[in-house]
Amino acid sequence: MSPEKKEPKQNLADKLGSFFHPPDSGGKKGPLPPKAHFTFWYFIIAFLILMALQQYFLSAKVETIPYSQFKQELAAGNIDNLTIGPEVITGTLKAKEKTPSQQFITLRVDDPGLVKDLDEHKIAYSGRYESKWLSNILSWIVPIAIFFLIWRYAMSKMSKMGPGAGLMSFGKSKAKIFQQSETMVTFEDVAGIDEAKAELEEVVEFLKSPEKFQKLGGRIPKGVLLVGPPGTGKTLLAKAVAGEAKVPFLSISGSEFVEMFVGVGASRVRDLFSQATSQAPCIIFIDELDALGKARGINVFGGNDEREQTLNQLLVEMDGFESNKGVIIMAATNRPEILDPALLRPGRFDRQVLIDRPDIEGREAILKIHSKNVLLGPDVDLRKIAALTAGFVGADLANLINEAALLAAREGKEAVGPAEFDEAIDRVVGGLEKKKRVMNPQEKNIVAFHESGHAIVAESVKFADPVHKISIIPRGIAALGYTQQRPTEDRYLMTRSELLDRLAVLLGGRVAEELVFGEVSTGAQNDLQRATDIARAMVTEYGMSDQLGLVTYERPRQSIFLPDNFTQSKTYSETKAAQIDEEISRVIDEAHKRVHKILTERRKVLDDLARLLLQKEIVQGEELRKMLSAFGEGSRQSMSQA
Ligand code: ADP
Ligand code: MG
Ligand code: ZN
Repeated sequence: MSPEKKEPKQNLADKLGSFFHPPDSGGKKGPLPPKAHFTFWYFIIAFLILMALQQYFLSAKVETIPYSQFKQELAAGNIDNLTIGPEVITGTLKAKEKTPSQQFITLRVDDPGLVKDLDEHKIAYSGRYESKWLSNILSWIVPIAIFFLIWRYAMSKMSKMGPGAGLMSFGKSKAKIFQQSETMVTFEDVAGIDEAKAELEEVVEFLKSPEKFQKLGGRIPKGVLLVGPPGTGKTLLAKAVAGEAKVPFLSISGSEFVEMFVGVGASRVRDLFSQATSQAPCIIFIDELDALGKARGINVFGGNDEREQTLNQLLVEMDGFESNKGVIIMAATNRPEILDPALLRPGRFDRQVLIDRPDIEGREAILKIHSKNVLLGPDVDLRKIAALTAGFVGADLANLINEAALLAAREGKEAVGPAEFDEAIDRVVGGLEKKKRVMNPQEKNIVAFHESGHAIVAESVKFADPVHKISIIPRGIAALGYTQQRPTEDRYLMTRSELLDRLAVLLGGRVAEELVFGEVSTGAQNDLQRATDIARAMVTEYGMSDQLGLVTYERPRQSIFLPDNFTQSKTYSETKAAQIDEEISRVIDEAHKRVHKILTERRKVLDDLARLLLQKEIVQGEELRKMLSAFGEGSRQSMSQA
């Protein structure tokens, strides 16, 4: 029943014309005239009214009649102006006495005799080419127009919301940009991580005056990765670098990159880097890099393509720009081990800054910073609080101060006193004990002697690497303390004596516990395992055993992907196996005897070192060497006599 008449057609076209150019929208002048109160729904309503009017006029002027009636009128000779279209027949019914002439329309039916009838009644008729003009408009142009209007509407909404918001900004990075005035954080606000701060000095210098470095042609790190446990102040430190250098700080979290729409992450990365280039010198900071930079291709079953794409884009962008433009990329993670190795390659995050839990000095300094705005009672001793909070990170300490202040406020006190701190420590510790991050004094005592044992043995045998530092600050769940040795050179080969010395160092912790407490704790388990591994390798792989001689009993591991014993078949008999086990325990027993002797002789140093550790939590290798030389012997002992 499409409208056919010339009149209404014209009518509709006119109205449609005005539909496209709403008189008050000023659509021709520009996309968004500010004064236009342009509401999409007005158009929908106007359109519906139009359709209704159209319908009304059409039905008023054109009567629809059945084909049978048409045939009767035809037979009666009442028909004029007949037009035969492919689907409908239109014409005029001649005026009768009462009714004026009336236009009509009828559906055409398959009637081969029609033309004959018309000729018989001498009625003038003409065929008609069915113009699709109007239906084209209705089926194509109107929907397009509607979408166009919706789009305009959405755009106008968005421009009101401001840039970077709304529908069309999926691909824009959500990087929060802090200008220097907003990042009031400076190095003053960060304490307890002085080594990391010192390492970042250079970055600050560079950002302050990139030209100077450009002139000298020095190579500046492109990417700096801050690695450390949660809450140690990685984010804070990155902000402080920006604050010190007085440059913009573009920060985004790794998890924000990975969103629901495929391809969005990658375009975010692109956008972030182009923003950064236009603001140089500046810092891009990617928090939680591990969310984005997990090693690719680990998930066998339908991994995360989106994340991979984003990561790839990040790698591309990092390679693609020159660091002397003045953009430094910083990132933070607490799980460096799961990062894609490609991220750590030269030219990417090639500088890594370790941020460890603060020692007692550091904790005191952090407490000082965070208690600046808190009224402390005169009898509060921050040093004492620091001593009670081994294993706390900066965030825990900030939390502690806050808890104590809240407690004091609840009790209506003037200032925060030691009692509040005691209670707050209990609360925070309660939370952390569940996470195994604090030790009770007894545990601490054991760990101090254990680590002292490792360290003293390492300094007393001939071939062990010198001790760098000894710490009893818990790190993570597994290690309660650690003795850090710095290799003096890269090693590719190890002699038998060197392996035996290494074995001795590993046993040092356990033997110290035996000597002091008469029993051992479970803390030595990992040491023992590694010691056994070395002894086994000496016996079965390197042919270093006198009893079993120059024979290799085990092949090197075949594949790193399959379990150790998957590809291995024993190449020796059961009796040989028993012999091997015996030989391994002999090697370990001898090492044990040797370590026992070393530590008994240096018992005084052991006690002193443990006491110092309990007091300071971290002891540098230098101090230990001084203690040992004061002890007299000091010189390293060779394995030959053991
Ligand atoms: P991370 O990013 O390493 O998880 P944050 O930088 O987010 O840790 O630290 C959280 C909060 O803890 C900081 O806003 C700050 O108040 C406090 N904080 C953490 N470390 C330190 C520190 N070394 N010195 C001062 N405050 C710290
Ligand atoms: Mg953080
Ligand atoms: Zn140990």
